[in-house]
Amino acid sequence: TFVALEGGEGAGKSTQARLLADALRDGGYDVLLTHEPGDTPVGATLRKILLDVETGTLSHRTEALLYAADKAEHVDTVVQPALDAGKVVITDRYVDSALAYQGAGRELTRDEVEDVTRWATAQLRPHLTVLLDVEPDVGLGRFDSPDRLESEPVDFHTRVRDSFRELAAADPEHYLVVDAHGSRDEIAAAVRARLEPHLAR
Ligand code: C5P
Repeated sequence: TFVALEGGEGAGKSTQARLLADALRDGGYDVLLTHEPGDTPVGATLRKILLDVETGTLSHRTEALLYAADKAEHVDTVVQPALDAGKVVITDRYVDSALAYQGAGRELTRDEVEDVTRWATAQLRPHLTVLLDVEPDVGLGRFDSPDRLESEPVDFHTRVRDSFRELAAADPEHYLVVDAHGSRDEIAAAVRARLEPHLAR
């Protein structure tokens, strides 16, 4: 079973990914908790390039390709092998982050980013994508020291949020949209309840 957590800055993805992984492990599942970008040796270098580069100096297509390279490495060496071994894989960010940030945020077309990203991920899709939906102002307010993207203008983050919501609305069977302004434990319970039918030991 493959689960992706998605959402904007400060939505609480990493916290919810960890809570979900802990709950599933307590329930006896073999769980791999992972994230993008950066959870492979090559990916860690790509993440550093992507997050350290000065705002405005990276070509948007270069940025999309580096994120795609991180995904190819992640799917081929981490995600797919874990799924093949029968694990539940939980990833903090996946394809929708590319469609939202590089597609809508950077204003490349959705189709071009989608083509590159689907190729990079060998068309592997999550059984369930959990969208933690948060107002950009609230999410950004949860950080004290902004990284490169956290210092993008609010409209960038509004386009990203709208794009995540559109993706979820277009495919309700494979998405759970959770209001991420709610309490940590309520959100965690909603995620677990929705995942239940997808779990096969
Ligand atoms: O989720 P995490 O905070 O680790 O992501 C690191 C940074 O990379 C964030 O600022 C996020 O917005 C950005 N990012 C991006 N495009 C992606 C994935 C992440 O701009 N496809």
